[in-house]
Formats: sequence, C-alpha cells, structure tokens
Amino acid sequence: MTAIDPVANLSALIRCPSVTPAEGGALTALEAMLKPLGFAVDRVMATEDGTPDIENLYARLGTGGPHLMFAGHTDVVPVGDESAWTHGPFSADIADGQMYSRGAVDMKGGIACFVAAVARHIENNGPLKGSISFLITGDEEGPAINGTTKLLEWAAAKGECWDACLVGEPTNPDQLGDMIKIGRRGSLSGTITVHGVQGHAAYPHLADSPVRGILALTQALMDPPFDGGTDTFQPSNLEVTTIDVANKAVNVIPAKASASFNIRFNDTWDADTLKAEIIARLDRAAAESPLRPGRPPVRYDLVWSERPSHVFLTRNNALIASLSKAIEMVTDREPKLSTTGGTSDARFIKDYCPVVEFGLVGQTMHMVDERGRHRRPPNPDRDL
Ligand SMILES: [Zn+2]
Repeated sequence: MTAIDPVANLSALIRCPSVTPAEGGALTALEAMLKPLGFAVDRVMATEDGTPDIENLYARLGTGGPHLMFAGHTDVVPVGDESAWTHGPFSADIADGQMYSRGAVDMKGGIACFVAAVARHIENNGPLKGSISFLITGDEEGPAINGTTKLLEWAAAKGECWDACLVGEPTNPDQLGDMIKIGRRGSLSGTITVHGVQGHAAYPHLADSPVRGILALTQALMDPPFDGGTDTFQPSNLEVTTIDVANKAVNVIPAKASASFNIRFNDTWDADTLKAEIIARLDRAAAESPLRPGRPPVRYDLVWSERPSHVFLTRNNALIASLSKAIEMVTDREPKLSTTGGTSDARFIKDYCPVVEFGLVGQTMHMVDERGRHRRPPNPDRDL
C-alpha cells in the first residue's frame, strides 16, 4: 500500500520548496499520495486583486457519512538565514531520530501523518464506511485570503458538508500527546491617533501635548484587566504593540502621537462587545486623565484593523473524547484540552462543522533547524 509510511510522505512533501505563495510541487506530491488511495482530487486556484494567486487542494474518499475532514496547509514560512541551518531547509535529512527542514512540524508533518493514517486504516479495515476529505491550502502562512475560507466556500457550494474536522497544526508544547486545542481566542487590533497642538516645551499652556493623551489612552486599554478568564479560556489580554511620536526635537511638543494595540480575547466577549468596551475606556480616559488637568478631552481617532478573528470553543464532546482516546492509545498520555496560543484556520472551519486541532510538537516551528521527531515505528497492535 502506498503512502503508509509517514516518514516517506513527509520527506516527499518537504523536498518541495513551497514558501507562501509558491505551490512548489507540494500539492502535486500530496495528490500523488492521495489518488492511489482512491481519493477524488480537485486543485482549486483562488485569486483576489492585490494578493498572490494561490493553489489549494480538496480531496474526498467515499460518498456517505459520517464525513471527517483533515485540514491543513502545505505552504511554509521562509527559511531565514540558510547558512544557519545544520541541515538543508528542504533536504528532509534525518539525524538523531529527527527530520530537519522547513515545514517538518508546521505542518507538512501533520499532513504526512494524516495520509499515512488513512492508508493504514484502509489496509487494515478495507473501504471506509463514511468519507474522509483533505482540505489543504497554500495560503495559511500568508494573507490567508485565498486559502481555507475560499476553499470551504468552494466545497460547500458543490454540496460538501462535514461532521467533524481535525486540523493538524502543531499543538503539543513538549511531547506528542500533551495537548488538543478545542478552541481559540479571538484577536482584534487597532490604531489610535491623538491630535494635539505643536508648541514650545517651555510654554505648554500654549500647546497641547499628544504624548500625555496617548499615555492616558494606552494606560486605560491595559488596566484594569478585561476579565478574569473562564473555565476554558485564560484571561483576555491587551498589549500595546507600539507608541509612535517620531519627534526628534527635545524642546518641541509634537502635534500628533499614535499607538497600536492587539487584544487576544476569550468568549466573555465577541468582537462587537469588545470594540464597545474599548471605545468606552478610551472616551473615559480622554475626558478625565490626571495627566491633563483642566484640559478639554483628548482628541483622538481610532482605526480598527480589518477582519477581527472571532473566538470559538468546540463543545462536541464525542469528537473531543474520541480524539483524546486515540491519542491516549498511541502515546500513553492524556492530552490537555486547551484554548491557548494564536489563531489558526480552525476559526474559519468552525462555521461549517465542529473542529479540533492536534499535530506535532511545535517547539521549532518557524525557526532555523525546524525538526520533528518520529516517535516510534508503526505498531500494528496500536494501529487505529
Ligand atoms: Zn501552520
């Protein structure tokens, strides 16, 4: 049976230099693994003005239900300083039981394992009772505009529907079996600009320092905390990521100051209630800052970054329990259910079916010498 060995699958994928937006041969390599297993494979090109064209792949085996989707991406981030790599970034070299190269853990490794798992299942059990599909994008590490969202829309338009999805992004902090992601925090960003009046630093009553204004507003964003966390989520957290005044003269009060912020929020909020809270904090601080006694309110404007990422939590206990059980059988570890970390394409998939995430150990993702460990040779007794 082809594609049964995850290590061979992974080295074939890794040797394709598919740095976003390049397909790099990776989807062709994947197609060559899936077709002999009986998958019907579609290559779907997505385009949008101002972004690179992206090739994606959708493949399905079986026609009935239940229908499980494996989701992931074959694109990888740039290699950075190539001379700093111990092994070539597209070499798929194995040393000390680890395979080196860009994408080994994020996330060609996950895809290689998906394919091997399907191949083994067919070999051990014959034809599937339900259906398995692969929804693979080439645009996860880039703008994510011509990737998962459009591929989901394309597949749904032709009648595809799914009962559950497993995303193979690296989710384990230290060892395989540590952690399943069952949700993700939302993410929202914005930029505030405070408008002051330029003037002489010795005559502040004739000017209006925007630095005082921006400090008042940014403090109000960071304190007090937005919430104390929930049973399943850590507390929402806002970071001011930059404050910019760009004033080179020490004796001049500048005219303008700006600051950007990003908040990772839990399901205490949605994007709209959170925006309202942020505006309320800013308006309060603008009106009554101790940094600006006796002054009229701070004049500011606020621009939201496009497309907030929405928070989600998967409550499908059957899906979570069956994945946990499978992980425990193979790794002897009981995975923690977590909602930590950044966003992922699961935030788009959750609108179509329940979604959970489980992949490799993520310690070296996006780093020089990215590498993944093949934990143990296939064990037929434990095969799922
Ligand atoms: Zn990834």
